[in-house]
Amino acid sequence: MTLVSGWGRFPVVDSDVLRPRSFDAVGEAVAAASGSVARGNGRAYGDAGIGARRTIAMTGFDRVRSFDPATGYIRLEAGMLLSDLIDTFGPRGFLPFVVPGTRFVSVGGAIAADVHGKNHHCEGGFGRYVGSILLRTGQGETIEASRAENADAFFATIGGMGLTGVILEATIRLRPVETGWIRERVISAVDLDAAMRALDAGDSATYSVAWIDCAAAGGNLGRSLIYLGEHAGADEVAGGAERFPVGKDPGLAMPIDLPSMTLNRYSIRAFNELYYRMGARRAGGSHVVSLFPYFFPLDSIGGWNRIYGKRGFLQHQCVIPEQSARDVLGEILARVSKRGDASFLAVLKKLGYGDGILSFPLPGYTLALDFPLRGDILNFLDEIDRLVVAAGGRLYLAKDARQSRATFEAGYPALQRFNAIRKSLDPAGNIRSKLSQRLFDEV
Ligand SMILES: Cc1cc2nc3c(=O)[nH]c(=O)nc-3n(C[C@H](O)[C@H](O)[C@H](O)COP(=O)(O)OP(=O)(O)OC[C@H]3O[C@@H](n4cnc5c(N)ncnc54)[C@H](O)[C@@H]3O)c2cc1C
Repeated sequence: MTLVSGWGRFPVVDSDVLRPRSFDAVGEAVAAASGSVARGNGRAYGDAGIGARRTIAMTGFDRVRSFDPATGYIRLEAGMLLSDLIDTFGPRGFLPFVVPGTRFVSVGGAIAADVHGKNHHCEGGFGRYVGSILLRTGQGETIEASRAENADAFFATIGGMGLTGVILEATIRLRPVETGWIRERVISAVDLDAAMRALDAGDSATYSVAWIDCAAAGGNLGRSLIYLGEHAGADEVAGGAERFPVGKDPGLAMPIDLPSMTLNRYSIRAFNELYYRMGARRAGGSHVVSLFPYFFPLDSIGGWNRIYGKRGFLQHQCVIPEQSARDVLGEILARVSKRGDASFLAVLKKLGYGDGILSFPLPGYTLALDFPLRGDILNFLDEIDRLVVAAGGRLYLAKDARQSRATFEAGYPALQRFNAIRKSLDPAGNIRSKLSQRLFDEV
């Protein structure tokens, strides 16, 4: 048995971790013990990538099967990391259509969470660019699923958090790009209203995201920096620069767990103030920046999750439907700012429709906040959940480690349909994770 956790380092659970070397061995691992789930690169924050009894590590399956540059379609094994895909195909002029805030996720994990990027409001999530998947079900079948074939299994697997089976391979469509550079425009917004207005005005931008200073209060509540982005053309890349910049390995790495008191209202306020002022200075014009800091700002610090100390941290990511978003987000931010221990990293984005049955996105605004795991934080987040549910919103399973069943069920009205498909693919219930035990499985 091995101690396993997600990126938030909570919960930490004993699990039997297997690293199969062949697809047959994956099948045997699923069949041999009830209670297993696939794991990609462990970037989900909570308990999604941990098997109820057995965890099947998939990152060893990282080969490209075929690639058609005329269509951009690539067939690959599901354990391949987006970082490897970008490093290999970026210089040839192709990138994934959708990337999350870290490139160190596997293709299987990106499909299972139907991850969203900064372009969800106009281009949808990762699942939209999946042509088909090869799935090993809990019943022991290996099936190809697409919009035309085994469509129920396909749409349940996109955003299905690994609970429909193990994705062995996938065919996804890549985006042709001229360069690996992004034309970025920074806008500073003095409060939440201005931030939401700027995101609305940026609807036509391919990429948009707001970083919120959640330590700000009063008239500055919700003050933000908004980053809009477009792919830069070859003529925009400065003379002498490579058309495709190199994605560096994390230069800095957190060598130790910081004592949890390092993060307090004073250090957070000071950091946020500095970040806001530095960003505000760049506001106005547009700049061409490498795709790596634009899409993956945190990847430059290896193991940054250790900043929160040994006990770990929680990310709370909700989405609130458009019509109630202003009021509810204002209320959440006011409560968070009053507590004073909210994260360095509050992110606000606009989302559109999700493609999978259990996909997280719905048209509205998503807010992601990090909190050290200490004090009364669990009770505080339960209160925030009540605001989210009352507004018709929901929480993102890939970030969750603690929401209640009632919150989950209220937020995902298509759950019954998902459960029926899951049952038909796995009548004996072989595929189970710590997350499914907490939120899905009959008790
Ligand atoms: C710094 C950071 C920033 C992030 N930013 C974003 C963001 O902007 N947008 C966003 O949507 N997400 C974001 N995430 C979350 C992350 O993209 C998802 O949790 C993603 O699922 C992680 O992929 P993984 O390969 O690490 O999978 P894991 O964390 O190992 O597993 C995640 C889920 O995928 C399932 N899974 C993994 N591989 C397979 C497979 N082969 N077959 C079936 N199921 C599988 C697991 O069972 C589990 O349910 C971020 C995470 C971090 C740490």
